[in-house]
Amino acid sequence: MNTPSNPLAHARIAVLGYGSQGRAHALNLRDSGLDVVVGVRKGGPSWEKARAEGFNVAEPAEAVKDADLVAVLTPDMVQPKLYKEAIEPNIKPGAALLFAHGFNVHFKQIEPRKDIDVILVAPKGPGALVRREYEIGRGVPCIWAVYQDVSGQAEAKAKAYADGIGGGRAMLIKTDFKEETETDLFGEQAVLCGGASALVQAGFETLVEAGYQPEIAYYEVLHELKLIVDLFYEGGITRMLEFVSETAQYGDYVSGPRIIDAATKERMKEVLKDIQDGTFAKAWIAEYQAGLPNYKRYKQADLEHPVEEVGKRLRARMPWLKAAAQPAAEPLQK
Ligand code: NDP
Ligand code: MG
Ligand code: MG
Repeated sequence: MNTPSNPLAHARIAVLGYGSQGRAHALNLRDSGLDVVVGVRKGGPSWEKARAEGFNVAEPAEAVKDADLVAVLTPDMVQPKLYKEAIEPNIKPGAALLFAHGFNVHFKQIEPRKDIDVILVAPKGPGALVRREYEIGRGVPCIWAVYQDVSGQAEAKAKAYADGIGGGRAMLIKTDFKEETETDLFGEQAVLCGGASALVQAGFETLVEAGYQPEIAYYEVLHELKLIVDLFYEGGITRMLEFVSETAQYGDYVSGPRIIDAATKERMKEVLKDIQDGTFAKAWIAEYQAGLPNYKRYKQADLEHPVEEVGKRLRARMPWLKAAAQPAAEPLQK
């Protein structure tokens, strides 16, 4: 890691936030031999946690002062205020400001000072996986970008940071803030979080409303999804097709397009358009500023869905799941 060509070899890195990404980045960077200070608010749960894990911990404004690279790894919605109060007045000219998601820069919630580098390194996985893969000598693929380069070293800094968290052991792909922001939002809305959970809930409701046992419906539409997703992950749809029966394949071919059809794809395009033209960002920022009234209501409805009630009971009888899921799963904030 500490080769002369590495622009971070003698740099001080301030990691702001010690949650999902922050903790994983801080630990991996330190294990890569880099100098890390964790910047979190005094009194919050992260303060003690980072100290207990051996870090030099300071309030964000203090941590930023002598940092050569500042990684902003708090929730997206708190970053604009953090930037205004702790970063903008304190970051050194020529230092780098790094994000793991382009939202605030792309949607102009943060307009970075002109005398600093602005870069992005976004791991394509949750923080616990970023840490776990690093610990076993591997890494999570990262996409990286440069928004502003004043030092002439912005690209080298982004790549060195991605190497420091283990991404270089896997794969690094160049992107820009616009592409990262829009594809990340689309992926989580249309497919990963929004699409997948709505598909599971609708499948569960269909079976239960038709009189089938909820326990069996749970296994069919939620539990077994893991097997399918693992096959996708290892070898794409090709590998899934190799493993399921001919009957399942034929059913896939004739019924899949009846569920996700051209009209669904048209609606996906509408979701993408709302992301691209800023409609989604505007609504989400307004929702956050209003104290999350709809967010809380939507979340409560998800938590109270019958598939959750059945799932809780069934998972209590499958204690082995907890142990297996521990490293990758972690609760999200709020
Ligand atoms: P988290 O929600 O896990 O961040 C929690 C951390 O932020 C804690 O240390 C918390 O400190 C601190 N924090 C929360 N609120 C504030 C505040 N008002 N002021 C100061 N610090 C605060 O964030 P993530 O790791 O999920 O996300 C960080 C960034 O990474 C985001 O830009 C996100 O889009 C991006 N990203 C996230 C991924 C993920 O899997 N989660 C994947 C790829 C990118 P305290 O203990 O004091 O509350
Ligand atoms: Mg993502
Ligand atoms: Mg995201």
